[in-house]
Amino acid sequence: MNTDKYDLIVVGGGILGTFHAYHALLLGKKVLQLEKDNYPVGATVRNFGMVVPSGMTDEWFEYGVRSLEIYQSIQKEFDISVRKNGSVYIASDDDEQTLINELKTYYDTKGYTQKILSKEQILQKYTSVKATYAKEALFFPQEISIEPNLMIYRLQEYMRLKFKEFTLLYNSPAIDCLPVGNDVEVTITNGKKFKSLKAVICNGYEFKLLFPDIFAESGQVVTKLQMMRTVSDHSSGLEGNILTGLTIRRYESFEEYCPSFKSIKTPDHYAELKAYGIHLLFKKAADGSIIIGDSHEYAGVSHFDDLGFATNNYINELMLAEAERIVNIDVRSIAGTWNGFYPQHPEKNILEYDLDDRIHIRTCIGGKGMTAGAGYAENSTQQIFNN
Ligand SMILES: Cc1cc2nc3c(=O)[nH]c(=O)nc-3n(C[C@H](O)[C@H](O)[C@H](O)COP(=O)(O)OP(=O)(O)OC[C@H]3O[C@@H](n4cnc5c(N)ncnc54)[C@H](O)[C@@H]3O)c2cc1C
Repeated sequence: MNTDKYDLIVVGGGILGTFHAYHALLLGKKVLQLEKDNYPVGATVRNFGMVVPSGMTDEWFEYGVRSLEIYQSIQKEFDISVRKNGSVYIASDDDEQTLINELKTYYDTKGYTQKILSKEQILQKYTSVKATYAKEALFFPQEISIEPNLMIYRLQEYMRLKFKEFTLLYNSPAIDCLPVGNDVEVTITNGKKFKSLKAVICNGYEFKLLFPDIFAESGQVVTKLQMMRTVSDHSSGLEGNILTGLTIRRYESFEEYCPSFKSIKTPDHYAELKAYGIHLLFKKAADGSIIIGDSHEYAGVSHFDDLGFATNNYINELMLAEAERIVNIDVRSIAGTWNGFYPQHPEKNILEYDLDDRIHIRTCIGGKGMTAGAGYAENSTQQIFNN
């Protein structure tokens, strides 16, 4: 038995786990974070790195706005790869134009800064966008991006340097988490046990190591997303978070806040893309490559393996053909492809289980984690310690 006793043990080294650890450390707590892999390789490193509260609703929008502040306050002290270059939703037809103008009206009343860009302004600012595609756009200058393949490692490095009471152990799969007396006891695969007052499980899409029965009955599904990265080309004019017509037809803020959303029709050329859950996003990484995605396929949480390990080239081809309609860069010079996975729930925005006042599960944040995770974890950590 390790004799050190922690205030909080965090299981999981992704964005949710790391920001629970971070906020507990800010509260002056002693924290142990356990990651099963040699370093985090889950959804947190496989995404676009877009921090886009503008696409979210209700408290998730507020968590996103708070996350913008949190990321930027850390960036002032330590380079975690934050760039403030805004988000833009580019409309390609009359219906999408109607939706961006309706969302503008909503955000005007809410006081969330944005502006409409005319076709000329789009082409001037985003020189790689095709004139045949862009009609009008809605631009949010305050939104940021991070580098998904760097950010979590830099954040954890920052936390190690800043907080003496922080211990981070990689290669440490937690296989048991039990209340023992007044404590929580967490066991990892080599048999080592750790004690704490509280534990939070931020397990992402790993459902077999801890509390499998809870997850099997949770109603969540696992989503598989296909992603691509072009070779580096610093000359491409696609800075920031670029979101396009199918995103306007998909994101929650448009669905909830735009009166016309329910009545707009899907044009024929979008039908097959929508069937694979495809919407086209572009994110220029710091190295000049462009991340292009994504698609969505689903499997029940107990049948995760049915999603397969292979990349479906037909889906990538659909995405590349649509990308060619939107931008005039060489999208077929692909440097790499990968699949990402995350759990999501058909009705809930996140899964929260408080097993007693000591053991808490927080997972299934869906496609919102990089945007809302930092702000959400602040609130969740406060609740865990107020219990
Ligand atoms: C392709 C793709 C694109 C996306 N794009 C965006 C985007 O642009 N913007 C946005 O806001 N969101 C985006 N998302 C969503 C975002 O990436 C996720 O919501 C977020 O990363 C989830 O974080 P997490 O910490 O819950 O899970 P994960 O990142 O999966 O982390 C969970 C961690 O827990 C560890 N773990 C699990 N069980 C144990 C155990 N028993 N013991 C020890 N360790 C354990 C795992 O190894 C893993 O490292 C995207 C996701 C994908 C897949």
